[in-house]
Amino acid sequence: MIKELKILLAFPRGFCAGVDRAIEIVKKTLIKYGPPVYVRHEIVHNTQVVKNLKKLGAIFVEELNEIKDTSRPVIFSAHGVPKSVPKEASNKKMFYIDATCPLVTKVHREAEFLYKKGYEVILVGHKDHPEVLGTMGQLPKNTIKLVETVRDVENIDIKEIKKPIAYVTQTTLSVDDTKKIIETLKIKFPKIKSPVKEDICYATTNRQEAVKKIAPLCDMFFVVGSKNSSNSQRLVEVAKKSGCVKSELIPFSENLPINSIIKCKKIGITSGASAPEQLVQNIILELKKHCKVSIEEIILTKENVTFKLPRLLN
Ligand code: SF4
Repeated sequence: MIKELKILLAFPRGFCAGVDRAIEIVKKTLIKYGPPVYVRHEIVHNTQVVKNLKKLGAIFVEELNEIKDTSRPVIFSAHGVPKSVPKEASNKKMFYIDATCPLVTKVHREAEFLYKKGYEVILVGHKDHPEVLGTMGQLPKNTIKLVETVRDVENIDIKEIKKPIAYVTQTTLSVDDTKKIIETLKIKFPKIKSPVKEDICYATTNRQEAVKKIAPLCDMFFVVGSKNSSNSQRLVEVAKKSGCVKSELIPFSENLPINSIIKCKKIGITSGASAPEQLVQNIILELKKHCKVSIEEIILTKENVTFKLPRLLN
């Protein structure tokens, strides 16, 4: 007898407005200027997206000095870049297009504004993530203090803080973990200045809230996304903390643990903000080969955020 399996599908899931825009920028640049077009760093953290764009003529590099033909356009990824990068491109007389998500740019401008107003700026984020490197690179070297954990906040030496203090955050953090870090900051520095509007973006928040709703109801939970995707990794953590200990990241349908899944009655699926919907559908197709599948989409909220493309690509 074929096994019955219920899938709770999270909504919203998958592409956010910043990812949509960044991918469109690469595609439109390829159409307007022809291939090849260089992209500094993965445009968004998803293997499939990168593979598809490579087929269209995008060449991915980590640094500008890897670019062989500097007469070709170069695009900066959605995660944002330190100020040194556009400066280097200008020095090399390269034509560049910035695909930084406008919500990351908002954090950049916020950090810069606070620094100019004389604040000591704390950044809550993950060391070495490209977005964090980009935000830190908006200010002179060693002027932003990075904290990753509550412990990092506890370890700040108050005597070293000579100026008023303010914080900004990475956009793709865990909402709950960040709340604890911010609470600790506020206890330690009661006058600390908060961002006018939350830095963790709407897409990160909505995807995490949808997971919190579904994960406790599931025997297993899957987040479709690539290993280097910060927001996808956070969704796995959120699912585990919400009560579904058997939660994992699935880059492709080939990675599904079918033997464990067929022992389940109900599983949950979502996808990170950089994962194409096609990957979710491939996973469902694969599951249908092994089980009699019924799907219920659980809608937390509808999103209607869109970002304009740079004017020269319209
Ligand atoms: S996850 Fe948020 S900040 Fe990152 S690209 Fe998407 S909308 Fe922008």
